[in-house]
Amino acid sequence: LRLYPDPDSSELCQALADFYKLESDQVFVSNGSDEALALTFYSFFQQDKPILFPAISYSFYPVYSRFFGIVSRMVPLDKDFKINPEDYKISNGGIIIPNPNAPTSMGLPLSAIEEIVAANPYSVVVIDEAYVDFGAESAVPLIDKYNNLLVIQTMSKSRSLAGLRIGYCMGHKALIEGLNRAKNSFNSYPLDRLAQAAGIAAVKDEAYFKANCQKIISTRTRVIKAMRELDFEIQDSMANFIFAKHMEKQAEDLF
Ligand SMILES: *Cc1c(COP(=O)(O)O)cnc(C)c1O
Repeated sequence: LRLYPDPDSSELCQALADFYKLESDQVFVSNGSDEALALTFYSFFQQDKPILFPAISYSFYPVYSRFFGIVSRMVPLDKDFKINPEDYKISNGGIIIPNPNAPTSMGLPLSAIEEIVAANPYSVVVIDEAYVDFGAESAVPLIDKYNNLLVIQTMSKSRSLAGLRIGYCMGHKALIEGLNRAKNSFNSYPLDRLAQAAGIAAVKDEAYFKANCQKIISTRTRVIKAMRELDFEIQDSMANFIFAKHMEKQAEDLF
């Protein structure tokens, strides 16, 4: 620990690349995916046209938009709280969508994600997969096909390592190079040595990871069933949280 950390987290990038069957120059790591998001907004979304994201979504998107002076357009969900890919086929300066979405807990099939990525070849399309390991389909297999796709994941949720602050982006090497350039020009905080070492160990322990996800999914199934018996209306969740409404009682009273 007397030595500074590897500024590029090379071994961790390689471990992630091996896990996701990518090359290490297709992986970028950050102090939590919130930092990855900040660098993504800074690097790719400062455009003349507005960026698009769902109107009900992760609360940091409007925050980063305002922080970097980026004009955004919030795209409404449909009446069932679903994202409609057709709504993302309008002129834009970039797109960011969580899959599954928060707080609705609903996921889009890979075909719908691909439809959005393919329809926007001149925009960077970011899929925030913070909850993808709880049952949704990852867009990582599309990375070699589309140079405008950036997938962001985190060790905070499905690997239960929020305290380590490890997030990562996967995409075409030109996008990864852009993120590295932005990071290295104004941010001198790589992942520390402990985070890099523990991150590598976590990626290599696939059995623990799978069992951890399975435990969270079982808890989700059990809680949804019990809450439905108590007259809650609940969407089928693909996340580690549930989106619920009581048939009669008001949320405020229940709270
Ligand atoms: C939790 C979360 C993040 C950020 O997670 P980090 O702990 O910063 O890695 C990003 N996007 C979504 C949708 C999240 O729910």
